[in-house]
Amino acid sequence: MKSLPYFCRGEVVRGFGRGSKELGIPTANFPTCVVEQLPADISTGIYYGWASVDNGPVYKMVMSIGWNPYYKNTMKSMETHVIHTFKEDFYGQTLSVVMIGYIRPEKGFDSLDALITAIRNDIEEANQKLELPEHQKLKEDNFFKDPLDTPVDKTSTSTAESTLSTESKHIMNGH
Ligand code: ADP
Ligand code: MG
Repeated sequence: MKSLPYFCRGEVVRGFGRGSKELGIPTANFPTCVVEQLPADISTGIYYGWASVDNGPVYKMVMSIGWNPYYKNTMKSMETHVIHTFKEDFYGQTLSVVMIGYIRPEKGFDSLDALITAIRNDIEEANQKLELPEHQKLKEDNFFKDPLDTPVDKTSTSTAESTLSTESKHIMNGH
């Protein structure tokens, strides 16, 4: 996928009540305007990368990109599980992520147990991959410095080509 690594950020919105949190794996959802900016070569499936909330520390993450049944599968959803235990929810805050690599395609599961096992494996794989030295560099990327101060008309990394949403604070850049 030529668009990887892919940087984006946006406000954390309410999901579709699929109860990820009840499974012990909460997923922070991006709004439609962020999802719509995804380059065409980013296919559905599970990705790993780095994430931060507002000006907070950068943590490992796994992200699921999937067709959203709520919109009759015409829209994708981007749901990020940050590999960290937060004291509180962070709806309305800004989530910044860099997607680095692909773990697996989307698939259906016969049981909830099978789904949870697959997600646990995804998290394990993300944990291992992100230890590689080449991935540590992205953790330190300027993109994660002062995300809330980043002006709307500028991307935070100099090499970025940007696609900008003018009226909102959702800043996208595809490397
Ligand atoms: P929703 O359907 O609203 O997305 P979830 O059950 O998926 O509900 O929970 C997601 C919310 O949980 C996020 O929006 C965020 O506020 C909170 N949250 C707490 N810890 C995490 C985490 N480690 N990763 C992602 N979201 C988290
Ligand atoms: Mg969710």
